[in-house]
Amino acid sequence: ALQNKVALVTGSTSGIGLEVATVLARNGANIVLNGFCDPKEIDNIQVRLKRKYEVDIHYVGGDLTKRNDVNTLCQKVDSLCPNGLDILVNNAGFQHVSRIEDFPLEKWDELLAILLTAPFLLTQHFISRLKNKGWGRIINIASMHGLRASPNKAAYVSAKHGVLGLTKVIALETASTGVTCNAVCPGYVDTPIYRKQLERKALDEGCDLETAKKKFLQPVHPTLEVITSEQVAELVLFLCSRAADQMTGSVLTMDGGWSAR
Ligand code: NAD
Repeated sequence: ALQNKVALVTGSTSGIGLEVATVLARNGANIVLNGFCDPKEIDNIQVRLKRKYEVDIHYVGGDLTKRNDVNTLCQKVDSLCPNGLDILVNNAGFQHVSRIEDFPLEKWDELLAILLTAPFLLTQHFISRLKNKGWGRIINIASMHGLRASPNKAAYVSAKHGVLGLTKVIALETASTGVTCNAVCPGYVDTPIYRKQLERKALDEGCDLETAKKKFLQPVHPTLEVITSEQVAELVLFLCSRAADQMTGSVLTMDGGWSAR
């Protein structure tokens, strides 16, 4: 259903972003990948997705904490895709954990830049063309940390709260143009970072991984289960469908019941 559409997924060389790119490609979208990765691995991803889904898969690198790189990414997407972008998924991100007293200003700046300023700049660049086309999707991968706080994550929590505000403004400014903007707020997703935390928990508690998982998730996910990248990607796909035409400015949680507490 996404044939002839072009999607830029930032941070799509691993984790949630790679799964979003895969699910959109499976549904016929041409993809622009972005993110850090060694060139061989990027080649592998491109070849695999192209062969399997017969869509165009481009890769444009760049460090999205840097404004110049964001601008270059915009220019390169424009020259790669003469008919312009249709779907923008702002996903790239990372975490820095430190109490406020010790939080390096440099990390604060980088996290605000990648999680909040880059989605703003990318939207600013692509918004008028999306409006002119009369169809478009801007999807921000926020986090449950856009709605809830945890200690020692000042920059991440602040930026994720911020991107929910940005989502709502974009939704209002694009309302009635055929463009929608929504945010997805996952709880804990099964990624290498989560697995590392789990292994540490198992070591600390002297228990097996299954027990460590329940103990780790108990304070956050009442379901005691972790979310998969595929589940997040399927929600993004839904937001790209006609069924979601009237969803805009929404903040969608996928959180194992976290926000119901
Ligand atoms: P990940 O580490 O697997 O992937 C992050 C991607 O961003 C990679 O492609 C990486 O190369 C890219 N990236 C990192 N720094 C970059 C930079 N400076 N410039 C360009 N690209 C950069 O992480 P993930 O868990 O898949 O996270 C993806 C998004 O989902 C993030 O915004 C994260 O905050 C959010 N999220 C993750 C979880 C979780 O539990 N994993 C939960 C909620 C929200």
